[in-house]
Amino acid sequence: MSDCVFCGIARGTIPARVIYQDELVVAFDDIHPQAPVHALIIPRSHHEHLGDSVSAELMAALFSAVPLVAAVKGVDESGYRVIVNAGRDAKQTVQHLHVHVLGGRMMSHGMVLFTPGDDDV
Ligand code: AMP
Ligand code: ZN
Repeated sequence: MSDCVFCGIARGTIPARVIYQDELVVAFDDIHPQAPVHALIIPRSHHEHLGDSVSAELMAALFSAVPLVAAVKGVDESGYRVIVNAGRDAKQTVQHLHVHVLGGRMMSHGMVLFTPGDDDV
């Protein structure tokens, strides 16, 4: 998609700190990190979310990249959390499928935070 920021990163027309890439996926540092390590893994092809015609081969490529990225970022031993937001209620803000890899600090047990009064948006 021509106006998609992650398509631009995959094409190399929008700059990013690339961590890993192969023929199917690209991984790079999140521009607004929410943990000491915050990387994103995206497919080169445009899919809005996990439910948007993602082949089994591409699913495998995305998740196979996770431990590689964790190793490059130095959190493979200490641990990391993997998050994929899909759609409105998950607050997906970039409509190009991406896998978050977060680590570098001890996290809480809770995986989900709800904002009171936020259900109307
Ligand atoms: P989500 O809420 O799951 O859609 O997350 C989108 C993520 O993309 C956020 O963590 C943003 O900080 C990140 N992001 C948006 N634009 C860029 C960019 N140009 N380079 C790197 N990360 C980005
Ligand atoms: Zn895209």
